[in-house]
Amino acid sequence: MSRFVYADNAATTPVSPEVIEAMAPCFSEVWGNPSSQHGKGYEAKAALDDARSRIASCLGCRPDEIYFTSCGTESDSWAIKGAAALMKKKGRTHIVTTKIEHHAVLHTCRALEKEGFEVTYVDVDSDGIVKMDELDAAITDKTALVAVMYANNEIGTVQPIREIAKLAKSRGALSFTDAVQAVGNLEIDLSTLGVDMLAMSGHKIHAPKGIGLLYVRRGVRIANLIDGGGQEKRKRGGTENLPYIVGLAKAVEIAVARIPELDKVREKRDRLIDGLLRIPYSTLNGSRENRLAGNVNIGFEFVEGESILMWLDMAGICASTGSACSSASLDASHVLLAIGVPHEKAHGSIRLSISHETTDEDVDYILETLPPIIERLRELSPLWEDHLKTKRN
Ligand SMILES: *Cc1c(COP(=O)(O)O)cnc(C)c1O
Repeated sequence: MSRFVYADNAATTPVSPEVIEAMAPCFSEVWGNPSSQHGKGYEAKAALDDARSRIASCLGCRPDEIYFTSCGTESDSWAIKGAAALMKKKGRTHIVTTKIEHHAVLHTCRALEKEGFEVTYVDVDSDGIVKMDELDAAITDKTALVAVMYANNEIGTVQPIREIAKLAKSRGALSFTDAVQAVGNLEIDLSTLGVDMLAMSGHKIHAPKGIGLLYVRRGVRIANLIDGGGQEKRKRGGTENLPYIVGLAKAVEIAVARIPELDKVREKRDRLIDGLLRIPYSTLNGSRENRLAGNVNIGFEFVEGESILMWLDMAGICASTGSACSSASLDASHVLLAIGVPHEKAHGSIRLSISHETTDEDVDYILETLPPIIERLRELSPLWEDHLKTKRN
């Protein structure tokens, strides 16, 4: 029997049956337009309001601080561009971010540079934690926004967001965090976290692709994203995607409720890490302690990450070389380079991202399958041959 093991949950997750069940009535029954002035519309509006308040109570914010978007990328881009546009009027044309952000943040910052904004990309240490003294030194009286991700999608490092938000505030700058990988993995309480904006996405937590949200603290002003009707307080026009919003509410509730169960995921993660580090010339990328419950990222010298993935796929195991977004290009991961992993090692790195659904048998199967793949790939590698020669001499 061939096995199938999905270990790429940081790229996307399957929609859970409970989420599908919660969404179903929005296609068959509650299909009205929430803006309509009749029974069908009121019914849809009630479902929309209910979803918004349930998410707000999971995240510790007010319902009117949540803006639904189409994805994490849209939320990231809107937060940064929307804040930049209004802060520019106050003479603040500088953005501080880090070298390990998701491309949704990095490429938005690049776009703003073309419009005349200045951006500082702060370094991280070898564990992938932002250097607070450098962050502090980077903020000036021209800084509009400090954008630091909550948890990294490639190496799972968690950042001190509370401290960062406090620092930004003390200098009159806004703070934003990309929490796409954090929701469902870490307790998030926006009433005490201190950030001005936070982004999340549905499809990383078992809701469908095509739904996300941006939290904007009451009193913080950002430019509109889509001018149109009165939806999302006139900031993002367009008839609300009610089925997916209702699905997102269900997914957030489940994800948050399951946080206490993450210890079991952590155990499996550690078993994977310990097992895979027995392979000669392998290194764990990122912090051993300060990492997301389901994240494993390991570099294997003398082999290519892409080849490992191909062989794993043939064995029924889905993994990734880091971010799904950069897998189309053959550039080494910007995150691994930022934590000081040399190019050759970065090229031989893979990420396994497991979930509540991952079983002990799945872990066993990965631990049985991966070591011989690395061994065989090394036998085919001229780099490995050179290495053996130099060792003999
Ligand atoms: C997946 C991801 C995004 C993008 O979210 P989409 O909903 O796929 O656009 C942004 N940031 C991080 C950290 C992610 O993991």
